[in-house]
Amino acid sequence: MTEVPFLDLAAAVHAERAELDAIWARFLDSGRFILGPEVARFEAAFAAALGVAEAVGTGNGLDALALALEAAGIGPGDEVLVPAHTFVATWAAVRLVGARPVPVEPEGGVMPEPAAWEAARGARTRALVPVHLYGEVTDMTGILAAAGGLPVIEDAAQAHGARRFGRAAGSFGTAAAFSFYPAKTLGALGDGGAVVTSDPGLATRVRRLGNYGGTAKHEHEVAGRNSRLDPLQAMVLSMRLERLGAAVVARAAVAAHYDSALGGIDGLRLPVPEGEPGWHLYVVRTPARDRLAAHLAAAGVASQVHYPRPVYRLPPFAEGAPPQGSPADRLCAEILSLPIGPHQTEPQTEAVVTAVRGFFGR
Ligand SMILES: *Cc1c(COP(=O)(O)O)cnc(C)c1O
Repeated sequence: MTEVPFLDLAAAVHAERAELDAIWARFLDSGRFILGPEVARFEAAFAAALGVAEAVGTGNGLDALALALEAAGIGPGDEVLVPAHTFVATWAAVRLVGARPVPVEPEGGVMPEPAAWEAARGARTRALVPVHLYGEVTDMTGILAAAGGLPVIEDAAQAHGARRFGRAAGSFGTAAAFSFYPAKTLGALGDGGAVVTSDPGLATRVRRLGNYGGTAKHEHEVAGRNSRLDPLQAMVLSMRLERLGAAVVARAAVAAHYDSALGGIDGLRLPVPEGEPGWHLYVVRTPARDRLAAHLAAAGVASQVHYPRPVYRLPPFAEGAPPQGSPADRLCAEILSLPIGPHQTEPQTEAVVTAVRGFFGR
């Protein structure tokens, strides 16, 4: 039996081991363990890769979202529109700045349509946080129009290397937040994140807020926090950024294999992302989700659910939630993420295909 892990992070480290050892040695010899030239070098390369003016490293993706919101002027009393179906961090960031997350439902697809964003806007709405879920750039042209001039902060934590409308995910809105959590498409060897923006004032505010509100040593203009990108992680990310394009190509090859081998099966819906997705996840839909997942597990194939419930079904965010049976509830009952990653082998992908086809009697 070919065992198929959901994502093999150890395989990536194995392939890069000599370079990582050299990075570790350079890091130790540098004597510089907070900020410094390696962080600046990664920030410049990341901004250039996306076609934005600035990138500011942060401690993680959640902080990147919260700092972008705070720097955009969002705070207590404000309402911020967020997808009902996303990772909990999108909502937690809104809560962290003292604002209230207001859900926008998906209708048919996995992400809300521009019309749903527009309809959800109310008198207290101060910002929109669309999420490029699973690595597909959401309809930013429509969402920017629906925002009517309000700040739009893209949650691009799953969208490294994704493009649409001729631009990179993260280059559309007022600002965007990335995460470099190890399992992301561009991942570090620990926590990390970044805010990207082409608004130099916003970049400066994020930089200050993430470094104790400091303008210079012992000069603190606002009450900030400590959320900085680690220079060791920046060195790893600089190396991996150069290979991001190749990693996305490798992910797309796995997706194309699934597309051709699993198309046309009754009761199984395959993803059909717009633009050039980063293929962070390959998420199929079937009413038989739980039984399919059990069948795959018995065949040695790992799968996951991103995410089992809409965020408003989680206790800290349940106040004001719609009754059971919402569009996001129905979506969450059907989705299953199949294994995908740049180091997944052909035989592994074929083992997934065989197991899925076997479940549907093919
Ligand atoms: C991973 C993720 C985040 C948060 O990133 P962390 O670095 O883990 O804090 C935010 N939003 C989405 C959609 C994510 O997938």
